[in-house]
Amino acid sequence: MSIPPDILIPEVKIRNRVSELGRQLSSDYSSGRPTVLVGVMRGALYFLADLSRTVTVPIEIDFLSVSSYSGTKSSGKVALSHDTSLDLTGKDVVLVEDIVDTGRTVSALIRHLALKNPRSLKICALLDKPSRRQVSVPIHYLGFRIADRFVVGYGLDFDQSYRNLPYIGVLPST
Ligand code: 5GP
Repeated sequence: MSIPPDILIPEVKIRNRVSELGRQLSSDYSSGRPTVLVGVMRGALYFLADLSRTVTVPIEIDFLSVSSYSGTKSSGKVALSHDTSLDLTGKDVVLVEDIVDTGRTVSALIRHLALKNPRSLKICALLDKPSRRQVSVPIHYLGFRIADRFVVGYGLDFDQSYRNLPYIGVLPST
């Protein structure tokens, strides 16, 4: 039987912070221009779902999938396994990511999405591990800054497990 991860960020704290981010986005994207939240699957699954429900202005939702992790080690390469399907041309796009670690994924996705000619492109991340950064990337909307621990839950996995935990946790041995 696996041991439940220790709680790093409890459910209620996540909910409150996500609501704050939703309020910020609602105010910043109130112009009426087409706005798209693009979630990075699968890690941003719950963040995208919860965040989008706290946004009170009209938005579209799309997603893409990348893979770069196996266990707790990043392969260092960012592979796009599913691309967005909406036309992003001329739209205000917000990339919704679970965690920015080395910055490689967000950096690659910024380059990728810029080719689709959005009107603007901003980054919204639930978590930031700044001590691990290798590539500098902007984070316009951030949930929480955390220390260098491998976290799971609320969409984040360890070899595909723990995604459905309602809180952000740390595995006892990491
Ligand atoms: P980066 O490209 O910034 O190094 O990593 C981004 C991706 O690595 C995230 O989207 C996430 O999938 C994964 N990642 C980075 N740190 C963690 C972590 O602590 N826990 C989990 N589960 N995934 C992580």
